[in-house]
Amino acid sequence: MNKIAIITGASRGIGAATAQALSESGYKVCINYLSNKDAANEVCSSIEANGGVAINYQADVSAESEVIDMFEFVNSELGTVTHLVNNVGILFTKTEFSNISVERFKNVLNANVISAFLCSREFVKQSSNYGAIVNVSSAASRTGAPFEYVDYASSKGAMDSFTKGLSLELAPKNIRVNSVRPGFIHTDIHSDGGEPDRVTRLSPQIPMNRGGTAQEVADAIVWLLSDQASYVTGSFIDIAGGK
Ligand code: NAP
Repeated sequence: MNKIAIITGASRGIGAATAQALSESGYKVCINYLSNKDAANEVCSSIEANGGVAINYQADVSAESEVIDMFEFVNSELGTVTHLVNNVGILFTKTEFSNISVERFKNVLNANVISAFLCSREFVKQSSNYGAIVNVSSAASRTGAPFEYVDYASSKGAMDSFTKGLSLELAPKNIRVNSVRPGFIHTDIHSDGGEPDRVTRLSPQIPMNRGGTAQEVADAIVWLLSDQASYVTGSFIDIAGGK
């Protein structure tokens, strides 16, 4: 059977590493991105250079019509989507909770939660009785990220409930839904939060004494999507060096 995956937010970081790793496991992949076309093209080219099949697609996955169009495009170019990674996640400059505006909180919920809802809904509409979804949550759903990103942590808490509910609804259809909860991972998201070296600064607080890599998260995602995890649904893998 052809395995066709959409990875949202795959122009860099964990999404890009996941797209590469899925391609190495034989999937045809769609690299979704928001604004960085050059980076998405680079991910595609690198996959194609290794003999894989990849397309990229610009879409704001928090916008319903753009998600519907993306699924139609991938269906016509690659075939029915069998696997989905809801990877998009954003955060804004770290700040204590009372400084967070309503607009900022809504933007975080839209990008991090509504996107996963929209993509999962389109995925389910076009699926037959087979497939898997991985939602990329965060260790922040457990810690709450006080004084930094309470909005972001709240969105990841919502993702965890979403994963649980969806997994139970879709279990009888043989569509598995799981989640990874990364801790401090070396990617550019920390520059968006105003502290590019955040992971290095916080490494002494991590039991394993180091941050993680995008590849380490991608490896867990690939396993959860694979048939080797065929009896795993509604589960969460913490990838946080023991934190
Ligand atoms: P990242 O490096 O900041 O990459 C974010 C990606 O999402 C980019 O490809 C970006 O595309 C895309 N994107 C953002 N908004 C989008 C939208 N509305 N529609 C489509 N694409 C959008 O992020 P990362 O660090 O790899 O994180 C990936 C996931 O892991 C997120 O859910 C994050 O919350 C989670 N996570 C990360 C860490 C960590 O320490 N890095 C820890 C825990 C959880 P463009 O560049 O084209 O705009």
